[in-house]
Amino acid sequence: MTENIAGKVVVITGASSGMGEATARSLAEQGAKVVLGARRADRLESIVADIKAEGGEAIAKATDVTKREEVQALVDTAKQTFGTVDVIFNNAGLMPLSMLASQKVDEWEQMIDVNLKGTLYGISAVLPIFQEQKSGQVINVSSVYGHKTVPTGAVYCATKYAVRSLSEGLRQEVKDYNVRVAVLSPGAVNTELTSHITEEGTGDQVRDFVKQIAIPASTMADMVSFAISQPENVDVNEILFRPTVQP
Ligand code: NDP
Repeated sequence: MTENIAGKVVVITGASSGMGEATARSLAEQGAKVVLGARRADRLESIVADIKAEGGEAIAKATDVTKREEVQALVDTAKQTFGTVDVIFNNAGLMPLSMLASQKVDEWEQMIDVNLKGTLYGISAVLPIFQEQKSGQVINVSSVYGHKTVPTGAVYCATKYAVRSLSEGLRQEVKDYNVRVAVLSPGAVNTELTSHITEEGTGDQVRDFVKQIAIPASTMADMVSFAISQPENVDVNEILFRPTVQP
């Protein structure tokens, strides 16, 4: 699967844990130059140190994806350090599930800001580079919850439906200058995602469910590798994957 990955410069948001971390480690192992962004700089630095100790190439920059200028700075740092950007993996996300009637409006806004606007800021930062070099790849993260809506998930699902929609819109607009667009939609994966649920009852219920069936974060790394490793004229547009036993 390493074909077409070695040497590529890959910017990864939400790289401090879960699927972003697993993907950073895997791509670096396959010879990619990885650029890690997230808010927890200490976590990023320790992942970068591990990657370097294994002989890989990696840098980190503390990035809050809700701040457009910080996402731009992450992409600029990648280009300054490695000369180009080949792929952005817009992976940062939050899932504080709750019933709308609970009025957790701050959490609704957080999900829109991180899951949707953060993804848009990543796209905005790489587009001029990709347009100029007439190549590049945007990989966005949706969810099984970008394919169906459940109680407590109205806002989260809305953001993940939106990521699929904007990915397809982007694909149609950038295909003419040879830019590939993929949207990856996982089911239950074993990460820290459910730890931020504040809704009474829902948190424990979801964490129990996920614990029983979840697949490892490295599964996402395999999907990302698959999408990147295709020949440049093959554009993997969407992958939906989940634990076999998940409804
Ligand atoms: P984690 O909680 O382990 O990782 C989420 C990452 O997003 C962390 O690195 C976190 O870093 C980062 N993040 C959160 N807010 C911000 C912010 N404001 N700025 C920058 N980075 C931010 O969960 P996952 O690995 O599971 O999540 C990755 C993606 O996968 C998300 O988009 C999620 O919605 C999606 N997903 C996950 C599923 C699952 O079952 N785990 C299922 C379907 C989709 P930090 O806190 O350091 O900023």
